[in-house]
Amino acid sequence: RDDLILQFQITLYGDNERLLMARDITRLHRLEQMRRDFVANVSHELRTPLTVLAGYLETYGEHAGQLPPRWQRGITRMQEQTTRMQNLVTDLLLLSRLETDHQAEQAEPVTIEPLLESIRRDAETLSGGSHVLRLEIEEERRLSGIEQEIRSAVSNLVFNAVRYTAPGSTITLGWRPWQGGAALEVVDDGEGIDPVHIPRLTERFYRVDKGRSAATGGTGLGLAIVKHVLLRHDARLEIESSPGQGALFRCAFPASRLVQAAAEPPRETN
Ligand code: ADP
Repeated sequence: RDDLILQFQITLYGDNERLLMARDITRLHRLEQMRRDFVANVSHELRTPLTVLAGYLETYGEHAGQLPPRWQRGITRMQEQTTRMQNLVTDLLLLSRLETDHQAEQAEPVTIEPLLESIRRDAETLSGGSHVLRLEIEEERRLSGIEQEIRSAVSNLVFNAVRYTAPGSTITLGWRPWQGGAALEVVDDGEGIDPVHIPRLTERFYRVDKGRSAATGGTGLGLAIVKHVLLRHDARLEIESSPGQGALFRCAFPASRLVQAAAEPPRETN
């Protein structure tokens, strides 16, 4: 059969004995595919009605001045919740694209410093200047990858750092050599995360504190998106934190993903 999917496992026993196990995972694979398609289709179908709702609410919001205060508050709440649903749909669609799009990726050399600088500025706007945002560039090489995806992964990490730390906290965006390769790091000096939660943080909708996350406007998909972007770049996410000690999110890229910095253009001589 050409649709059969088998998973092999080889176990070594003693010096020269081997046990080979083959597991038929065809059904599991098909169910997983159905789950992905379903989520992608529902998200796609929700997009248009949400755009219509948001459009009407904007118009009502513009004329809300003549309405009783209770109604005005109602319109504001509806606008907030519609935006939340739109963000959720955008993240669900992005995640399902990251999971299913296996085409040969269009990797290009990405120069990290301007990318981090632009994310830093976006985060400054988002936080309204309430946080100190710093850049530390110690690595010169460029990253071979998809810039849009790297931007979305790092933005999720930086926006999380803004949302889960108190005003006045310092957030550092770094690009540095790491274990033969290089790492993009986002470090904050906030409350940190209890280590029991760390292994589960990249699961969809896993939150340390549900009430707080919803109040800060997250979709619960941020770290799942980061994980999938990194998988597509042969990279891994390392999280180091303990309560009261801040948090470090490190995207560790192997040397095979690094490209030497562009050579300086030749100087003009007369
Ligand atoms: P959310 O939309 O809930 O932020 P994420 O997947 O981005 O979803 O993050 C998962 C959870 O990880 C968050 O709900 C929060 O509890 C925790 N978290 C993420 N980043 C940080 C951080 N910098 N400091 C403390 N907790 C964090």
